[in-house]
Amino acid sequence: MKSKCFVLINLLVLQYLVVLCVSQDFDFFYFVQQWPGSYCDSDKNSCCYPTTGKPAADFGIHGLWPNYKDGSYPQNCDPNNPFNESEVSDLISSMRRNWPSLACPSSNGESFWSHEWVKHGTCSESVLDQHSYFGTALSLRQQTKLLQSLKSAGINPDGGSYSLANIKDAIKRGTGYTPWIECNQDSSGNSQLYQVYLCVDSSGSNLIECPVFPNGKCGSQIEFPTF
Ligand code: 5GP
Ligand code: 5GP
Repeated sequence: MKSKCFVLINLLVLQYLVVLCVSQDFDFFYFVQQWPGSYCDSDKNSCCYPTTGKPAADFGIHGLWPNYKDGSYPQNCDPNNPFNESEVSDLISSMRRNWPSLACPSSNGESFWSHEWVKHGTCSESVLDQHSYFGTALSLRQQTKLLQSLKSAGINPDGGSYSLANIKDAIKRGTGYTPWIECNQDSSGNSQLYQVYLCVDSSGSNLIECPVFPNGKCGSQIEFPTF
């Protein structure tokens, strides 16, 4: 009897350890893309073009952010895993095109990518190593084609004012999923389309409907500035 009990307890402890090891350290990702025109003309930021020149007039990646279903999120999860450009050397030219940094002073993007990896990427390292983290974000960027979806609905980056509902509908039609839109303000205080959030399952493979949206509010009519 004693030895049977011992075996049972050992099994229970083992099961607990297995559950601990495979338990999720986050629930889903926000995949966040920014409109460069709105980063550059806002009242908070002026911007600087990358050392490689003005980026294309298209959405660029801001980040792929692990998140919890309750709206909170982990950050800076592993100080022992710094950004290492040599692990992503085959992706750098695509990152320059699709994940440009517009912060000042001008840079080649490395400090932005490093910041995103250290703050967010290290919190999903159990699922995506550095190469897959950046590779996943790049392939989501190709998959979502935000500007194309908006243009197909007659929504163009021409400085005009568009209905927030129409913007969301156009992106939903293009991607299959409901986006969340973050606005900022241009220098005259108009609300404008700044960032688009889409949700991705915790493997990084599939877009999903967002379990929770961030906080914040746009006007019902927002500007889509030129770049
Ligand atoms: P802000 O305060 O400008 O909205 O966000 C500043 C930064 O905090 C973002 O760029 C991002 O790194 C992080 N952040 C803000 N909101 C969220 C969120 O809902 N989820 C995650 N994972 N990060 C966020
Ligand atoms: P967050 O914590 O908001 O994800 O990271 C934003 C940080 O990255 C800020 O420190 C910001 O200065 C820097 N950064 C560098 N380039 C860019 C850019 O093109 N867009 C944004 N939003 N932040 C950038």
